[in-house]
Amino acid sequence: MPTETKAQYDPSLGNKFIFVTGGVMSGLGKGITAASTGRLLKNAGFEVTAVKIDPYLNVDAGTMNPYQHGEVYVLKDGGEVDLDLGNYERFLGIDMTSDHNITTGKTYQQVIEAERAGDYLGKTVQIIPHITDDIKRRIREAAAGTDVCIVEVGGTVGDIESMPYLEALRQFAHEEPEENVLLVHVTLVPHSKNGEQKTKPTQHSVKEVRSIGLQPDIIVGRCDEELYPETKDKIALFCDIPTEAVFSNPDVEDVYHVPLVVEEEGLDQYVLERFDMAGEALPAGERANEWREVVTTEKDGSVDVALVGKYDLEDAYMSIHESLKHAGFELGVDVNVQWVDADEMADHHTERLEQADGIVVPGGFGMRGTDGKIEAIKYARENDVPFLGLCLGFQMAVVEYARNVLGLEGAHSAEMDEETPHPVIDILPEQYEVEDMGGTMRLGEHITVIEPETLAYDLYADTSCTERHRHRYEVNPEYFEHFADEPLVFSGTAGNRMEILELEGHPFFLGTQYHPEYTSRPGNPSPPFVGLLEAVLERTQTVAMSDTQV
Ligand code: GLN
Repeated sequence: MPTETKAQYDPSLGNKFIFVTGGVMSGLGKGITAASTGRLLKNAGFEVTAVKIDPYLNVDAGTMNPYQHGEVYVLKDGGEVDLDLGNYERFLGIDMTSDHNITTGKTYQQVIEAERAGDYLGKTVQIIPHITDDIKRRIREAAAGTDVCIVEVGGTVGDIESMPYLEALRQFAHEEPEENVLLVHVTLVPHSKNGEQKTKPTQHSVKEVRSIGLQPDIIVGRCDEELYPETKDKIALFCDIPTEAVFSNPDVEDVYHVPLVVEEEGLDQYVLERFDMAGEALPAGERANEWREVVTTEKDGSVDVALVGKYDLEDAYMSIHESLKHAGFELGVDVNVQWVDADEMADHHTERLEQADGIVVPGGFGMRGTDGKIEAIKYARENDVPFLGLCLGFQMAVVEYARNVLGLEGAHSAEMDEETPHPVIDILPEQYEVEDMGGTMRLGEHITVIEPETLAYDLYADTSCTERHRHRYEVNPEYFEHFADEPLVFSGTAGNRMEILELEGHPFFLGTQYHPEYTSRPGNPSPPFVGLLEAVLERTQTVAMSDTQV
């Protein structure tokens, strides 16, 4: 795993901190609101980073089920983290490390290990000050070297789990100069039946925040439309903040438009003024503008891409959805992602896939759904449908080819079938002795060497790429020779590891052992996704032409 020298926090640098809490209910999009504000501060010329606090006892998100928490996002240092960090990376255009995700599991582990080592010299170890000190230290270290650090507390104020964090933030704000810390509280402003915007839930949740000694500086009301001036006045009066500090965050059709809304509301400008940074900010006319240009790209039509997965939940494949969107910005087309249940594929795959212009088979673990994924890959291979296989999708493409083209009957991944006569996908040698599940896969950034004159080379326009990984299995070297003279070629490798596959003679058939979806950004889309979408567009145009000829 690549190690980096960590910048040390220096209080004289004058980092500014935006703490973000949520009220009323979770899932309000406080992370997106915070990331959007951060984006605008970045456009104004500042270095911005973020810390996500997850008050659960898991050390990291690596062992969590995507059904409960959405996808596990992978950072370049191999950190397996909450998907909100993906949003921060995409909105802020930065690469973060595991230190930017604080969990209760991490802080307690650290403090308990220090206690066992005797570091507390006989003292009673307590939540206050030992856990709270550890939380504050982590925030300061993650902020080092930047101008503004956004610190988002997951969950809702009032949850037992988040109490130590809110206490740590209270102490933090007490220790810092007043102009260095802002508390943004994001709440829900629902509509009554007669169209009135109701502020009572906001009042109650702010009361909760104040009962732990924190006073919001800014309140953002999530609502289906903008807050009325009377609503803002009422919130200001009852929550004891100026009306100018109350902002709307209405529903928008695309999350990437939230920075545009936040800018229109003047939230970024208010933050700059409260931080006393307005003078250092680039003048409005000189601020970076690519974000707006990218996310408001005119679209010419739309295409349908089938995502053959296990989870009927957009969050479970969030980075893939976002990567397809980024490729869509690049090529000026809307991408409709059609989720296809891999479990049901074996029965009626053709009808579901026939409607799709392209097929993506995502990563995954365990047997369920693999038969359907193999069926979908076979369909894409035989029918010249553009196909992108990611991690497990790559591995299943190898299995499908081994079974149906090489004639290796019963070929499979040893993960799914330990008794397979042909384990074309086998456990990584360094995993033989691994027993713990958490943080033990081949994780994070690794370099892939790309063969010239291949599709992969055309896509990356380079002889190497650096992408993020998360797997325990790989192509079994004992089967390399079976693929030696085949149209299925491994065009990207890392030593003895096969990293990219492609199928000669097919319009677009690409698989990657790594996860390109974690490095795709608006304005800097991932090459495999752009390649897939280009092939999809070419195909839809050809189909449209042959339709008119008929
Ligand atoms: N289950 C496979 C492995 O461990 C693929 C992992 C993935 O898709 N992220 O290698």
